Amino acid sequence: MIQLKDVSLIDFTTIKIGGIAKFMVFPQNESEFLEAYKTHKNDNIFILGKGSNVLFGDYDGVIINTKYFNSIYVKEEKNKVFVKASSGTPLKDIIRIAIEKNLDNIYKLTGFPASVGGAIAMNAGAYNVDIFDFIKGVWYIEDKEIVYKKKEDIQYTYRHTEFENKPVLYGEFVFEKTNANIKGLVQEINQKRQSTQPLNTLTSGSTFKNPKNHYAGKLLEEAGLKGYRLKDIGFSPKHANFLVNYQNSTLEDVKNLLEYAKEKVFKAFNIILELSILTSYIIKR
Ligand SMILES: Cc1cc2nc3c(=O)[nH]c(=O)nc-3n(C[C@H](O)[C@H](O)[C@H](O)COP(=O)(O)OP(=O)(O)OC[C@H]3O[C@@H](n4cnc5c(N)ncnc54)[C@H](O)[C@@H]3O)c2cc1C
Repeated sequence: MIQLKDVSLIDFTTIKIGGIAKFMVFPQNESEFLEAYKTHKNDNIFILGKGSNVLFGDYDGVIINTKYFNSIYVKEEKNKVFVKASSGTPLKDIIRIAIEKNLDNIYKLTGFPASVGGAIAMNAGAYNVDIFDFIKGVWYIEDKEIVYKKKEDIQYTYRHTEFENKPVLYGEFVFEKTNANIKGLVQEINQKRQSTQPLNTLTSGSTFKNPKNHYAGKLLEEAGLKGYRLKDIGFSPKHANFLVNYQNSTLEDVKNLLEYAKEKVFKAFNIILELSILTSYIIKR
């Protein structure tokens, strides 16, 4: 198993901000994953997928990086397609299958970076479709054992699941075939994202959660924060709820910007914004 010491986290998040992780391991199969988990159970484990929804400073623990735990199994039965994918599989591989086999709805999750494990852990979604709409069951590690749970027994809500603190090994999905032109629909969504989100920049997922009956991006925009920049970090001029790292930003700069934004929005609307992106000053272990 590949194991690295004192790793710069800049290379492991899409926003390219990060300090040093004490230790990072890269399991390539189920037994290596389990072994890594058992070995480091008491060492502040963090499971990392594509790093598109996390912001790190230094990390004094062990990061299990799922990048090489990447396999996908597909079975067709009449108008249904069953997929079992390991947690490091890029979500875009499932979108590719959706295009090949004309699968309904899952195509709406195109255009953002995600691993299967990261998407399951936070029930990723877009355009009123969530990854849990297609889940049949999940294999994960609990008390050093591999456990399977069927969907009915899993706790999940909007962008939140019980797997946030449990390592997901595989997702089992069931998709339905359709006659729609999925390739065309994927292209449409990609174009829409391209025009509304800062896709070709160093960015991460939505910064703040949408407060009840509001959109965080709109509140930030109305508070004058769209395009606002502090040193090398700013809110995108395309979409105020996305951070952009203009080159060499640090977690400290991000913290200052986020505090400033929260204060501005609170003063303007009496609404407290809550972070959606996971930051290591919150996940301090
Ligand atoms: C431009 C852009 C657009 C985006 N648009 C959307 C969107 O429309 N909808 C949306 O939902 N998200 C969006 N995101 C956010 C993000 O891409 C998704 O939430 C994605 O699912 C995160 O997956 P990841 O592999 O990058 O997870 P990471 O960022 O690596 O991790 C996120 C969380 O999942 C946990 N995790 C990762 N792998 C596992 C595992 N195997 N087992 C247990 N826990 C695990 C981590 O510990 C962490 O808590 C966007 C991001 C970007 C950069």
